[in-house]
Amino acid sequence: MKISIIGTGYVGLVTGVSLALQGHNVVCIGRNKKKIARINEGKSPFYEPMINRLLKKVVNKSFLLATDIFEKNIITSDITIVAVGTPTVNNKIDLTDIKKISVQIGKTLKKSKKYHVVVIKSTVIPTTTENIVLPILKKYSGKNVPAFGLCMNPEFLREGNAIEDALNPDRIVIGQYDKKSGKKLAEVYKNLSCPKIFTTLTTAEMIKYTANSLFATLISYSNEIARICQTIGNIDVVDVWGGVHLDNRLSPIINKKRITPGFIHYLSSGCGYGGSCFPKDTKALYAYAESIGINGQILKSVIQTNKTQPLQMISLLKRAMKTVSGKKITILGLSFKPQTDDIRESAAIPIIESLIKQKANITVHDPIARLIDPKLLEKVKIASDIKEALYNADAVLVLTAWDQYKKLIPKDFLSSMKNAIVVDGRRIYDKEYFISCGVIYEGIGLG
Ligand code: NAD
Repeated sequence: MKISIIGTGYVGLVTGVSLALQGHNVVCIGRNKKKIARINEGKSPFYEPMINRLLKKVVNKSFLLATDIFEKNIITSDITIVAVGTPTVNNKIDLTDIKKISVQIGKTLKKSKKYHVVVIKSTVIPTTTENIVLPILKKYSGKNVPAFGLCMNPEFLREGNAIEDALNPDRIVIGQYDKKSGKKLAEVYKNLSCPKIFTTLTTAEMIKYTANSLFATLISYSNEIARICQTIGNIDVVDVWGGVHLDNRLSPIINKKRITPGFIHYLSSGCGYGGSCFPKDTKALYAYAESIGINGQILKSVIQTNKTQPLQMISLLKRAMKTVSGKKITILGLSFKPQTDDIRESAAIPIIESLIKQKANITVHDPIARLIDPKLLEKVKIASDIKEALYNADAVLVLTAWDQYKKLIPKDFLSSMKNAIVVDGRRIYDKEYFISCGVIYEGIGLG
């Protein structure tokens, strides 16, 4: 099947590579010529494990081509998958790109003679596909379903594991306007054996928000528990979670083996969730709920707790040193989680901004991610390796659980830093061992 994908970001390109590997003829339509040229050389514009090797493979075999030629490619393909960004602006979803692309697709459908299915893969608030995309497609094409098809197909890939998730999804949700549209989209995924559920367009949209908001809620709940622990003496949230996780209802014993379900990972405390999805999706759902008269109290608290959680790192730092003014503070980790270069809404950003305001001298390190904001760049020093980052530092804040950081031992901090103050934002170190070696150890949820 020939498939056009609009948007060459994390979702668009990973989906493109995955579908090309499944034997489809994929055209990734982007706007940035430099990015397009890079993709056609088999080089991903962003970091993601495995992507370059697999991209090169499908490009070399001509299963995937990147281009900025829109109309011809849409007309000659069977399906168009829309994977453009849907950012949150002023705490509400911004559908500008979705609307623009719907106009462009509508105009193209007008000229197309064959049946074509439009698939919204971007995360959009409930009713968007039916009440915004469809009317635009109808207006500019002069046609209606079933002359063309319309689906909403939310994406559940996780950055850092995106290729694996796209090739082995846990489920595929096909929101269909009519059965013909859904049947055509199901053909795209015919080689994937996971459960496929067929729903209305709006249900598909809601599944995505419900899933993301649930995980964000677990994280903010865990962080609220951490704050309570931090305020009491002689308590550690890590031990609290250890005791909670062993509940058979959370981690059941099956065939004498304890199973640790994936969601347990979200029931642990840290310096806050980030990335391109949880922060923007919780805000968009909250705003949407309000707009239809629902007081989203839980969502509101989840968002508020997450907004203030990164600054807990500064409070912890101040338990160990009275002032940060004039001190060399090292930040280990910029990306919102390991295995990605994505720093969107990363906890590192508000922490760095706050430390700058308090006149600290900041050095940052990340194995992959880079700061892009010029205002921050001119005020921080970038270290090329961990040793350089730690040298002569008065304190270090560990914000991302990269393997390189997990492997550090007390000697690494004690031998390089002026004062071995370690504030562990992801609770990756053995507290007792670090303290026994002479490190001044602070961590999220440590009372
Ligand atoms: P992104 O910002 O990395 O990529 C979006 C791309 O769309 C950009 O490259 C942009 O240039 C392009 N674009 C916008 N308008 C265009 C147009 N008219 N023509 C061609 N290209 C255009 O975003 P992303 O992280 O890939 O996310 C895309 C969507 O998928 C969002 O709605 C997001 O919420 C959702 N999503 C993201 C993830 C994730 O982990 N990143 C996971 C699931 C769902």
